[in-house]
Parts: sequence; C-alpha cells; structure tokens
Amino acid sequence: MQKETPNIKATYLIKHDNVAHHPLGAASYIFHSELIQHINLHCTKNRIMLHIGTQPNSSPHIGTIINFAVAFFLAANLQQEHKRSVLISLDIVDTAPSEQLTIDGLRYQRSLRFTREMDKYMVDFIEILESLKNRTGVEYQIRTQSEFLGGPHIRSALSEIIRDREVLGPSFSPNTKNLAIRAACPRADCGLADKDGVHNVYLYSDDGSTIEFQCPRHGRFTLSLSDPEHIQQLEFNTPLRNILRAKVFARDPDASWIHVTGADYAGYYQEQLLWRHITPEEALPIFYTPLIVDWSGAKLSKSLYVRNGAYQYLKDNNMDYLVSYKIFKEKGNDLGVVFDEVMDWVKYPYRLFRSYSIAYIDSLFRGDKPSQGISW
Ligand SMILES: [Zn+2]
Repeated sequence: MQKETPNIKATYLIKHDNVAHHPLGAASYIFHSELIQHINLHCTKNRIMLHIGTQPNSSPHIGTIINFAVAFFLAANLQQEHKRSVLISLDIVDTAPSEQLTIDGLRYQRSLRFTREMDKYMVDFIEILESLKNRTGVEYQIRTQSEFLGGPHIRSALSEIIRDREVLGPSFSPNTKNLAIRAACPRADCGLADKDGVHNVYLYSDDGSTIEFQCPRHGRFTLSLSDPEHIQQLEFNTPLRNILRAKVFARDPDASWIHVTGADYAGYYQEQLLWRHITPEEALPIFYTPLIVDWSGAKLSKSLYVRNGAYQYLKDNNMDYLVSYKIFKEKGNDLGVVFDEVMDWVKYPYRLFRSYSIAYIDSLFRGDKPSQGISW
C-alpha cells in the first residue's frame, strides 16, 4: 500500500546549536531565583492550596500535563523547603460544553457531566495526578463543579456577583451583556442550558434571590440561592468562574489559595475581567505556567486537535503524543521526562517565565535535551 503523503505546505528548517537561552524580562528578572520564598511570604494562612482546573473534554495534552506538574513541583518545594502544609486542588469543569446548538438564534449547550462524555477521559487525568503525587509526595483533591459549589462562602460570593450584574454582565459577555449563569433543564431527557443566560430572570424575596431559567423546549424553571442543592446545579462561563473562585478563596479563613493556570490567561484578560472587579482582599495570587506553542507561536490546543482535526503535521511527524496523553502512553513515553524538566524550571525559576515550543519538548523525548544557555 502506498504511504499517504503528509500534508506539508511549507518547511523552514533552520540549523541551530540546540542551546536554549533564557533572557531575563519582567517577572523572570525579579523572581529569577527567589520565587518560592516570595510565594511562601505571601501565603500567610495555615495552609497553602494550589488550585488547578481542567475541562475533561479529551485526553489531556502536554500543556495540561505541564500545568499540573508546575503546581505539584511548586507545592513540593513549599512543603520541603519551607515546611508548609500544601494541597493541590483540581477543579474539574464538568459544566463545560459537550454539545452546542442554536435554537431561535440563541446558543444552548449540554454539559460534559450531562452527556457523560468526560467519563472516558477521567482515568487519564487521575493517572497523571497519581504519578505526580508519587514523584513529589504532594497530596491532591479533585472536585466537580457541584462539589465546589457545595463548599462554604459560595452563596455570599454569588449574591455579590448577581447584585453587580449590570456591570459584570457587559464586561464578561460584551455581545449579550448578560451574566452567563446557566442551569440545565431538569428534564432527564433534555439537559439544555441557555449558554449566555439571555432569558435568565433574577428575583428577590425575603429568603434570598432566585433565578428563573428558560428551556427552549420545556419552559421556565426556578433555582433558589437559599437552597444549597439548587446552588450546586448552577453553571458559569469562564470569567464568572474566575471571579467567583477569587471571592470564595479569599473568604477561606484557614488556607491561602494560589491559582495555577496557563500563561494565555495572563495580562489583559485578568486586568479587564478580574482585577478591576474585585477588592484588594480578593486578589489571590495567580501563577502562570509556560505555554507550549506550535511552530507559529500559538498555544497548542487540544480542542482544535480533537474537534477540528488540526495538527495533521504532528501526526505525520510522529509528534501527536504531545496532543493526547492516550497516544503518549500508546507510544511508550515516560512522564518522568517532562517531570524532570518542570522540576528544573521550579529549581531555576527564570526558566518558568517563558513559553516552550513543541520542538523543544519533543527534543526531551528524543533524548536530545537542549543545553541551557545564557540567562543573564
Ligand atoms: Zn428542556
């Protein structure tokens, strides 16, 4: 059988010395060696919680693995060097869309937890977390969205957000200007949720607020903020989850929380969608992990790979293990390779404030690890 020709449109091959330089800039200039001390000083409560999140809509890719690894190695360092009590907390965003459809011009979705699409991927996430726990000695917990919403301080934080919806709605959803609070239609054979919260009605009574939602097929239904089980059914878009988390974490009397997320959330996103809407007390530290970028410098996207068939060239070059942990395992790759790398980033923090290309990461697995060049 004739081998299919890879769909290669262009190549730009540049011979290089396989030396990775780490020029100092911005944060890496200030925190090039004293990062963990800085984090430790700013976590003044009894315990430290390092928060990570994921949408389990596919087998995790290398960017997600690296995000988790950064959190675990930061935690290990705080635990070992500073004798802090540290726990990793992974929030599973099982309310993320599994199916999306448009009805009468409005967007509706069914969540990952409704369709159970996530079930087949959770085993991969747990395997990675277990490997990281074994490697670092750091414990972790996993929470679904309804478990997160079942915790303390949610109701007061949520009430503040709903009270400020005239400001937050247009900020978080410039198109519809509505707060994207969702709830799945309670009918077991439906589960549709108004993605942008366009038909939501917010009502107030003596025993607290209620939200009226509308299913396009089965009409209106109501959830009350004074009923904890109702609160656990709520779903939010990403900026809403972000601000709710900041408010809830700040209210924890026992633990200092740090959110560890990909560097694509740094900068304008947080400045516009988080910092300007919260009080100084709610401004939790956010640690941004290096992005893994493709040949063009864009972040590697598992969604584009899974849903839109992107990155055929990675497949053709036997590099698709970087986009799916399932393939990573099938090809016999060792998580220890990437853990060793991330451990070095935490040890030499000037290596943490930058992106890494897929070529760089692939070279680690090919046994051709770049040598470390000039830093400052
Ligand atoms: Zn319905």
